[in-house]
Amino acid sequence: MANGSSYHTLVIGAGAAGLMATIFAARSASPGSRIAALDGATHIGAKILVSGGGRCNVTHDVVTPDDYAGSKRNQIAKVLRTFPVEDTIRFFDDLGVPLKREDTGKLFPVSDSARTVLEALLSAAEEAGTEVMPDHRVNSVTHDGEGFWVTTNQGELRTCKLILATGGKSLPKTGSDGLGFALAGSLGHTATPTHPALVPLVLEQTHWLVSLSGLAAQIELSVASGTGKNLHRQRGAVLMTHFGLSGPAAMDISRHWIAERNNDPNVKLLANFLPDKTFEQAEQELVTKAQSKGPTSVLASINQALPKRLAQALIQAGTGIDPATPIARLSKPDRRALLHSLTALDLPVVRDRGYLFAEATAGGVPLSELDLSTMASRNCPGLYLCGEILDVDGRIGGYNFQWAWCSGRLAGISAGRQD
Ligand SMILES: Cc1cc2nc3c(=O)[nH]c(=O)nc-3n(C[C@H](O)[C@H](O)[C@H](O)COP(=O)(O)OP(=O)(O)OC[C@H]3O[C@@H](n4cnc5c(N)ncnc54)[C@H](O)[C@@H]3O)c2cc1C
Repeated sequence: MANGSSYHTLVIGAGAAGLMATIFAARSASPGSRIAALDGATHIGAKILVSGGGRCNVTHDVVTPDDYAGSKRNQIAKVLRTFPVEDTIRFFDDLGVPLKREDTGKLFPVSDSARTVLEALLSAAEEAGTEVMPDHRVNSVTHDGEGFWVTTNQGELRTCKLILATGGKSLPKTGSDGLGFALAGSLGHTATPTHPALVPLVLEQTHWLVSLSGLAAQIELSVASGTGKNLHRQRGAVLMTHFGLSGPAAMDISRHWIAERNNDPNVKLLANFLPDKTFEQAEQELVTKAQSKGPTSVLASINQALPKRLAQALIQAGTGIDPATPIARLSKPDRRALLHSLTALDLPVVRDRGYLFAEATAGGVPLSELDLSTMASRNCPGLYLCGEILDVDGRIGGYNFQWAWCSGRLAGISAGRQD
């Protein structure tokens, strides 16, 4: 690339948001406008390829601002409204990637292949007349009032409009290593504190749950303050692993546990293995069972609700009670200890697994620093931001890509339309 090549719009980052921004900038700009996406990676789209276990969970059939954390609900809603899920479905269908809905509400390509999503986006970018340039790592950007100088490992480029779509810090080996925050900072933006989101949690290695590696169960996890106040709740599948907890519910609640723990070291993560029941309701049931005829054992009494391995470990290792003990013979303190473990087990989380294993980044450039009708920076004329670099992170289920498609498209249209 020759030094000083000049563009109408340059997009930094050719991930989900950046490719979307590139396509829509070109579709909206006057014919002949030169538009390109620069990416530091030698192969474009690594994160799209690994997403959804290689199938790419493109979006979710119902997406609301409540599915996200970070910036304010009404700010997120403003952007989501510009490209509803039906439009995402139509967009990919037009690119030759029909989507199918699974029972969970997640939408995947009918092909079950993330590669078809990436190839469709790259073809659309090419058809729109743009250049997508791998191995173009942007090291710095300066703004001189008329436009931007973008310094890459291949030389310097000039552009009128600049779109920052560098992602956050999750899975840094794909190229999203947080340099985008420094670039945004050099152009007048701030960022709220960042930490991993959608990340597995590490438990004390001596805890009995770790011995259940491979087992999955429906659990309600809650983050409670040091004083016992319930701060966040998440119900769903939790997978026990050799290091601790994974699976959708654990991943979803991780960003809340980390954020609260950063403010208060006494914050707890509690597990309710009977998600539909409180301590009192479960106690009432157990007492009724104890009073009914038949020598029901402690294990048999909770076995219907939990996988047997889990029930056995919870009783034996969690409370020290012999699982064969008839419930009628359970002392009141033992009964209450058992119910406590069943409905509010204090999980000894020591840390999260970090950005290497995180699917998203919590924190980032606040939406309050953008004009949300265009994604234009309020601090730097000609600059637009989109995707994971912003202070928005979604639940598991296609919500993060939906954010990338929406915000990327809006940034692209807005930059492209401007002369
Ligand atoms: C393992 C995994 C699975 C996931 N699965 C799903 C899923 O199924 N559904 C879902 O909705 N979400 C999923 N996500 C989240 C989703 O991938 C992200 O929300 C989304 O990719 C963010 O898009 P983005 O374009 O903002 O950032 P990114 O996809 O991170 O792209 C940013 C790009 O910018 C480039 N870049 C960064 N800095 C520079 C620089 N200085 N110069 C040049 N280029 C630079 C990077 O190389 C990268 O290509 C998953 C994430 C992970 C890690």
